[in-house]
Amino acid sequence: MKFLCVGCDEPMGVRSVEGPDLGSVSVTFGCPVCGHQVSLLTNPAETQLVRSLGVKIGGGSPGGPLETVRTALGEQREGALDVKDEAGLVWTAAAEGRLQRLPPIARPMARMAIARYARERGLTTVTPELMDEYRSRGGF
Ligand SMILES: [Zn+2]
Repeated sequence: MKFLCVGCDEPMGVRSVEGPDLGSVSVTFGCPVCGHQVSLLTNPAETQLVRSLGVKIGGGSPGGPLETVRTALGEQREGALDVKDEAGLVWTAAAEGRLQRLPPIARPMARMAIARYARERGLTTVTPELMDEYRSRGGF
């Protein structure tokens, strides 16, 4: 399959490729003789077809390299405020914040109780969800 320039009857070459963006790719073809251009926008299923036209589509990973970088940065930022206690249990920033909302006198006991609850369940991270679960079982 090729695109032919109607005026020149010449096979068009690939000028530029954008994407994949959510699996879609935009490919611009141009006529080497008159410079006429056409753009092709594909859906994810058609992207495979475009590959078969010999179009090199960058990325490789789903969402492309930029997306991968964004994801890594997001995870790092989210985990940066997590606190690890002396037993190696990780308290997410959100869980710490929840604990800080308790009256100061109640915190050490709540911390111990939740840590024990997490360990009993074989967990290594305390999240607000786990605290909710603990509380719904009569904790605090
Ligand atoms: Zn042409």
